[in-house]
Amino acid sequence: MIERTLVLIKPEAVCRGIAGRIIRTFEDAGLKVVAIKAVKPAKETVERHYTLDKEWYEGVWEKTKKSYDKQGLELKETPLELGTKIRGWLIDGIKEKPVIAMVLEGNDAISAVRKFAGATAPSVADPSTIRGMFSTDSYSVADSERRVVRSVIHASDGVKTAEREIAVWFENDEIIDYKRAEENIVY
Ligand code: ADP
Repeated sequence: MIERTLVLIKPEAVCRGIAGRIIRTFEDAGLKVVAIKAVKPAKETVERHYTLDKEWYEGVWEKTKKSYDKQGLELKETPLELGTKIRGWLIDGIKEKPVIAMVLEGNDAISAVRKFAGATAPSVADPSTIRGMFSTDSYSVADSERRVVRSVIHASDGVKTAEREIAVWFENDEIIDYKRAEENIVY
Protein backbone atom coordinates (compact mmCIF):
# COMPACT_ATOMS: atom_id res chain seq x y z
CA MET A 1 0.00 0.00 0.00
CA ILE A 2 1.26 3.46 -0.84
CA GLU A 3 2.03 5.29 2.40
CA ARG A 4 3.65 8.48 3.58
CA THR A 5 6.03 8.66 6.50
CA LEU A 6 7.96 11.34 8.35
CA VAL A 7 11.74 11.21 8.61
CA LEU A 8 13.80 13.63 10.67
CA ILE A 9 17.51 13.74 10.06
CA LYS A 10 18.62 14.60 13.57
CA PRO A 11 21.07 17.44 14.42
CA GLU A 12 23.99 15.04 14.98
CA ALA A 13 23.65 13.83 11.38
CA VAL A 14 22.99 17.22 9.79
CA CYS A 15 26.05 18.66 11.57
CA ARG A 16 28.19 15.73 10.36
CA GLY A 17 27.19 16.46 6.76
CA ILE A 18 25.74 13.00 6.14
CA ALA A 19 22.19 14.10 5.26
CA GLY A 20 22.77 13.61 1.54
CA ARG A 21 23.91 10.00 2.03
CA ILE A 22 20.86 9.26 4.15
CA ILE A 23 18.46 10.77 1.62
CA ARG A 24 20.20 8.87 -1.15
CA THR A 25 19.60 5.55 0.63
CA PHE A 26 15.87 6.19 0.60
CA GLU A 27 15.84 7.48 -2.97
CA ASP A 28 17.82 4.46 -4.17
CA ALA A 29 15.16 2.18 -2.70
CA GLY A 30 12.46 3.93 -4.72
CA LEU A 31 11.06 6.08 -1.92
CA LYS A 32 9.92 9.46 -3.16
CA VAL A 33 10.76 12.70 -1.36
CA VAL A 34 7.45 14.59 -1.42
CA ALA A 35 8.38 17.27 1.15
CA ILE A 36 11.67 18.42 2.60
CA LYS A 37 13.03 21.34 4.61
CA ALA A 38 15.90 22.32 6.86
CA VAL A 39 14.69 23.86 10.12
CA LYS A 40 15.74 24.85 13.61
CA PRO A 41 12.46 23.83 15.26
CA ALA A 42 10.83 25.77 18.06
CA LYS A 43 10.50 23.97 21.40
CA GLU A 44 6.71 23.73 20.87
CA THR A 45 7.19 21.85 17.58
CA VAL A 46 9.40 19.24 19.23
CA GLU A 47 6.97 18.98 22.17
CA ARG A 48 4.12 18.31 19.73
CA HIS A 49 6.24 15.71 17.96
CA TYR A 50 7.32 13.80 21.07
CA THR A 51 4.12 13.42 23.09
CA LEU A 52 4.22 11.51 26.36
CA ASP A 53 1.74 8.81 25.46
CA LYS A 54 1.66 5.53 27.34
CA GLU A 55 2.41 3.29 24.37
CA TRP A 56 5.50 5.37 23.55
CA TYR A 57 7.05 5.50 27.01
CA GLU A 58 6.32 1.81 27.64
CA GLY A 59 8.11 0.98 24.39
CA VAL A 60 11.08 3.17 25.32
CA TRP A 61 11.24 1.46 28.75
CA GLU A 62 11.03 -2.08 27.28
CA LYS A 63 13.88 -1.44 24.84
CA THR A 64 16.04 0.27 27.43
CA LYS A 65 15.40 -2.54 29.95
CA LYS A 66 16.37 -5.20 27.43
CA SER A 67 19.63 -3.44 26.71
CA TYR A 68 20.39 -2.87 30.41
CA ASP A 69 19.63 -6.54 31.22
CA LYS A 70 22.08 -7.66 28.54
CA GLN A 71 24.80 -5.60 30.15
CA GLY A 72 23.91 -6.59 33.72
CA LEU A 73 22.83 -3.02 34.54
CA GLU A 74 19.85 -2.15 36.69
CA LEU A 75 17.08 0.08 35.33
CA LYS A 76 15.66 1.81 38.39
CA GLU A 77 13.07 4.12 36.80
CA THR A 78 9.44 3.25 36.09
CA PRO A 79 8.29 3.51 32.45
CA LEU A 80 6.67 6.89 33.13
CA GLU A 81 9.76 8.26 34.90
CA LEU A 82 12.07 7.07 32.12
CA GLY A 83 9.74 8.32 29.38
CA THR A 84 9.43 11.75 30.99
CA LYS A 85 13.20 12.03 31.30
CA ILE A 86 13.91 10.85 27.73
CA ARG A 87 11.26 13.16 26.31
CA GLY A 88 12.93 16.08 28.09
CA TRP A 89 16.31 15.08 26.67
CA LEU A 90 14.81 14.68 23.18
CA ILE A 91 13.26 18.14 23.32
CA ASP A 92 16.54 19.68 24.53
CA GLY A 93 18.53 17.76 21.90
CA ILE A 94 16.43 18.88 18.94
CA LYS A 95 14.86 22.27 19.70
CA GLU A 96 16.53 25.15 17.87
CA LYS A 97 19.13 22.76 16.39
CA PRO A 98 19.46 21.96 12.67
CA VAL A 99 17.07 19.25 11.55
CA ILE A 100 16.15 18.11 8.04
CA ALA A 101 12.52 17.06 8.01
CA MET A 102 11.05 15.15 5.10
CA VAL A 103 8.04 13.19 4.00
CA LEU A 104 8.77 10.03 2.05
CA GLU A 105 6.16 8.27 -0.04
CA GLY A 106 6.18 4.75 -1.42
CA ASN A 107 4.99 1.19 -1.13
CA ASP A 108 4.79 0.28 2.58
CA ALA A 109 6.93 3.36 3.21
CA ILE A 110 6.48 3.28 6.99
CA SER A 111 7.91 -0.18 7.57
CA ALA A 112 10.45 0.21 4.76
CA VAL A 113 11.93 3.33 6.35
CA ARG A 114 11.97 1.71 9.84
CA LYS A 115 13.91 -1.20 8.30
CA PHE A 116 16.45 1.18 6.81
CA ALA A 117 16.72 3.04 10.13
CA GLY A 118 17.60 -0.10 12.10
CA ALA A 119 17.44 -0.66 15.86
CA THR A 120 17.11 2.43 18.06
CA ALA A 121 20.56 1.98 19.62
CA PRO A 122 23.18 2.19 16.84
CA SER A 123 25.51 -0.08 18.84
CA VAL A 124 23.22 -3.04 18.15
CA ALA A 125 21.71 -1.89 14.84
CA ASP A 126 22.56 -4.02 11.85
CA PRO A 127 25.65 -2.50 10.15
CA SER A 128 23.75 -2.28 6.85
CA THR A 129 21.18 0.09 8.37
CA ILE A 130 21.47 3.87 8.63
CA ARG A 131 21.94 3.80 12.41
CA GLY A 132 24.40 0.91 12.24
CA MET A 133 26.32 2.45 9.37
CA PHE A 134 26.75 5.90 10.88
CA SER A 135 27.05 5.40 14.63
CA THR A 136 27.97 3.11 17.51
CA ASP A 137 26.16 5.02 20.26
CA SER A 138 24.36 3.02 22.96
CA TYR A 139 21.72 3.37 25.70
CA SER A 140 24.21 2.95 28.52
CA VAL A 141 26.69 5.60 27.27
CA ALA A 142 23.84 8.01 26.50
CA ASP A 143 22.26 7.48 29.92
CA SER A 144 25.56 7.86 31.74
CA GLU A 145 26.05 11.20 29.95
CA ARG A 146 22.42 12.17 30.64
CA ARG A 147 21.53 12.69 26.99
CA VAL A 148 19.57 10.95 24.24
CA VAL A 149 20.89 8.06 22.22
CA ARG A 150 22.16 9.76 19.07
CA SER A 151 20.07 7.66 16.76
CA VAL A 152 20.83 9.64 13.56
CA ILE A 153 17.24 9.73 12.25
CA HIS A 154 13.67 9.58 13.47
CA ALA A 155 11.15 7.56 11.46
CA SER A 156 7.40 7.26 12.11
CA ASP A 157 6.40 3.88 13.51
CA GLY A 158 2.81 3.45 12.28
CA VAL A 159 0.06 4.81 10.06
CA LYS A 160 -1.56 6.99 12.74
CA THR A 161 1.77 8.25 14.08
CA ALA A 162 2.95 9.12 10.57
CA GLU A 163 -0.19 11.12 9.87
CA ARG A 164 0.11 13.01 13.17
CA GLU A 165 3.85 13.63 12.84
CA ILE A 166 3.65 14.84 9.23
CA ALA A 167 1.09 17.43 10.36
CA VAL A 168 3.47 18.64 13.08
CA TRP A 169 6.21 19.47 10.56
CA PHE A 170 4.41 20.27 7.28
CA GLU A 171 1.40 22.18 6.01
CA ASN A 172 -0.65 20.31 3.40
CA ASP A 173 0.51 22.60 0.59
CA GLU A 174 4.18 21.86 1.34
CA ILE A 175 3.68 18.23 0.28
CA ILE A 176 3.91 17.78 -3.45
CA ASP A 177 2.69 15.20 -5.92
CA TYR A 178 4.77 13.94 -8.84
CA LYS A 179 5.75 10.73 -10.61
CA ARG A 180 9.22 9.24 -10.52
CA ALA A 181 10.43 7.95 -13.84
CA GLU A 182 10.86 4.35 -12.71
CA GLU A 183 7.67 4.14 -10.62
CA ASN A 184 5.96 1.59 -12.85
CA ILE A 185 9.04 -0.64 -12.92
CA VAL A 186 9.85 -0.74 -9.18
CA TYR A 187 6.37 -1.65 -7.92
P1 ADP B 1 12.89 5.05 17.75
O1 ADP B 1 13.57 6.38 17.50
O2 ADP B 1 13.69 3.90 17.19
O3 ADP B 1 11.45 5.03 17.33
P2 ADP B 1 12.06 5.23 20.58
O4 ADP B 1 10.72 5.73 20.19
O5 ADP B 1 12.14 4.08 21.55
O6 ADP B 1 12.95 4.81 19.33
O7 ADP B 1 12.88 6.43 21.24
C1 ADP B 1 12.90 7.71 20.65
C2 ADP B 1 14.29 8.29 20.78
O8 ADP B 1 14.57 8.50 22.16
C3 ADP B 1 15.44 7.38 20.28
O9 ADP B 1 15.66 7.53 18.92
C4 ADP B 1 16.59 7.88 21.12
O10 ADP B 1 17.18 9.04 20.54
C5 ADP B 1 15.94 8.28 22.44
N1 ADP B 1 16.00 7.25 23.51
C6 ADP B 1 15.17 6.20 23.70
N2 ADP B 1 15.50 5.51 24.82
C7 ADP B 1 16.55 6.15 25.36
C8 ADP B 1 17.38 5.93 26.53
N3 ADP B 1 17.17 4.94 27.37
N4 ADP B 1 18.40 6.79 26.76
C9 ADP B 1 18.63 7.83 25.93
N5 ADP B 1 17.90 8.09 24.82
C10 ADP B 1 16.88 7.26 24.53
